[in-house]
Amino acid sequence: MKFKQLDITGFKSFSEKTTFLIEDGLTGIVGPNGCGKSNIVESLRWCMGENSAKSMRGSGMEDVIFSGTSNRPSKNISEVVLKLDNQNKEGPAQYREFDEILVRRKIEKDKGSKYYINDKEVRAKDVQTLFADLSTGAHSPSLISQGKIGQLVTAKPIERKSILEEAAGISGIHARRQEAETRLNAAENNLKKADELKRQQQKQLDNLKKQAEEATRYKEISKEIKKIEAGMYYLKIREIEKDKKQIVEKLSELEDEISAVNIDFNHNNTLLEEENKKLAPLRDKKMESVASLQKLNLDITNLNEEESRVKTLQEKLEKSIRTLESDLEREKSISLDADLNEKRISKEKEDLFKTENELLEVETNSSKELKESKSQLENLQSKLDNLLDQI
Ligand code: ATP
Repeated sequence: MKFKQLDITGFKSFSEKTTFLIEDGLTGIVGPNGCGKSNIVESLRWCMGENSAKSMRGSGMEDVIFSGTSNRPSKNISEVVLKLDNQNKEGPAQYREFDEILVRRKIEKDKGSKYYINDKEVRAKDVQTLFADLSTGAHSPSLISQGKIGQLVTAKPIERKSILEEAAGISGIHARRQEAETRLNAAENNLKKADELKRQQQKQLDNLKKQAEEATRYKEISKEIKKIEAGMYYLKIREIEKDKKQIVEKLSELEDEISAVNIDFNHNNTLLEEENKKLAPLRDKKMESVASLQKLNLDITNLNEEESRVKTLQEKLEKSIRTLESDLEREKSISLDADLNEKRISKEKEDLFKTENELLEVETNSSKELKESKSQLENLQSKLDNLLDQI
């Protein structure tokens, strides 16, 4: 397999897409210091899966992204695509069907790196294994960067071993072996876990078997219970149907009774209506009688009041009569006294005729008193007559 083409975009000093065609024979890149020759080799190593920022001459992996110059803005993405020629089908078995293998690495600020082989996203390890199988890679001694030759001369035996392995084309197998061993250990652990799980599940199975036996027995007993219950329900339904029949019969009897009662009720209602019709004039009459009664009651009250008033008057009059009678008695006695006085005075007149002048005054007074008494007596008499008339 051969490297055919290298596309660099936004990587270090390459802001725009730059394509390097790697033709047959030796390819050399020449240029002044700082023009970016080492950046091309680094892009190659980066694309092969380099994960040490230090060996990329940076403090972080994002340092490989073009950081801008005085007249070019910085970029957010850096991408390197390496095209491999696989026409002679020497590549790893899974890519043997392809004539070309495109290995792509892309890094985006704050999002990290992504690897693709033939536009299918893969792990970094897959890319590293692919190049290990091809006896190359980011850390391959076939890529000699500045100052690396000195390092090779002073390398330890274990480091030299990796150079020999790569020269023998078995570095990929070695990497795979390590991976396979890790996988084997993981598989052994999984096997142990599976055994443990199997033991637990066996226990659960035994429990479940017991439960299943109990469940079967429960089902059989439940069936028996259901049969007995069904028999009981059947007998109960028969009883209920019997009761229902009786109730229906009773219900029809009651319905007959209700209809008879309804007929009576309607008849009575008609009678009631007729009676009500007859009752209407009687009601009017009753109202009239009640009105008359109220009027009579009022009259009686008035008469009672009149009677009590007359009684009071009568008592007053009787009292007046009694007063008048006593007055009359008194006046009669006065009149009697007057008569006696008159007699005495006449006798004295006779006796004292001689002293007529002296007695004339007495006589005149006496006759005056007599006249007044008489008039009073007449007045009293007439009053008494009037009162007697009133009574
Ligand atoms: P020399 O012959 O001296 O070894 P060189 O040709 O190999 O030089 P490089 O070391 O590949 O040159 O390139 C160095 C140049 O790359 C420097 O000018 C440096 O500014 C530039 N450079 C390195 N990293 C970035 C980056 N992230 N963004 C922009 N330019 C970068």
